[in-house]
Amino acid sequence: MGPGKFVLLKQPSTMNDIETNLKAILNTIPPEVTLVAVSKTVGPEMIMDAYRAGQRVFGENKAQELQAKQKTLPGDICWHFIGHLQTNKVKHIAPFIHLVESMDRMKLLEELNSAGKKHGRVIRCLLQFHIATEESKFGLDQSEAEAILTSTVFQDMQYVQICGVMGMASFTDDRALIRSEFRKLKEIFQLLHDRYFTGKPEFREISMGMSGDYPIAIEEGSTMVRIGTALFGERHYSDTKN
Ligand SMILES: *Cc1c(COP(=O)(O)O)cnc(C)c1O
Repeated sequence: MGPGKFVLLKQPSTMNDIETNLKAILNTIPPEVTLVAVSKTVGPEMIMDAYRAGQRVFGENKAQELQAKQKTLPGDICWHFIGHLQTNKVKHIAPFIHLVESMDRMKLLEELNSAGKKHGRVIRCLLQFHIATEESKFGLDQSEAEAILTSTVFQDMQYVQICGVMGMASFTDDRALIRSEFRKLKEIFQLLHDRYFTGKPEFREISMGMSGDYPIAIEEGSTMVRIGTALFGERHYSDTKN
């Protein structure tokens, strides 16, 4: 599965649209909540529109697509990885990634740690939890996370740092269900914090909320929202593999 081409059939037509969308979104987010602009499938010109409007944190879900964008876009962008990350793709993002939000298994953490060692940098991660009712979504459950955190293998790792949790709610109109899933993620965060991260101020992020549900996520304690469609418009994926 290669990254799709950057094809947008319908898109905000001017920089003004993106700036307007960005300002409107920021108006609904408390200043202490980080906005991750999800730019997957979005071309460099539109990313630059958001950049010129002041946005610096962007999220991508394909390692090679991200690597290509990182090379050509400004160096002060903080890139977050938000998709399923195969271990053999870690090398494409290890030198620059600001936060891997989708750390969902021990094997990946080990790979990130060796890549961090190789590049002489600590790679920051969030533990991704499966909170939705849908089967297909990736993520840990609480016992899997605790198995990682209590392992000596993890405790010996010097090139990864766990900075919090991430999750996606079910894709549904049932607001009560969405709210309960976000609440569950906040509870997991609190429990892990109290058991494993007291005195570790870097463990502070709860990444939850997307275009359709971020106001609920913020009410339930989100510190980081990941928003694509509401900022850049509908995504259109091409079938082209590259
Ligand atoms: C695509 C994506 C988003 C953004 O979704 P929108 O509905 O477009 O805001 C957020 N998080 C993850 C993990 C994604 O893959």
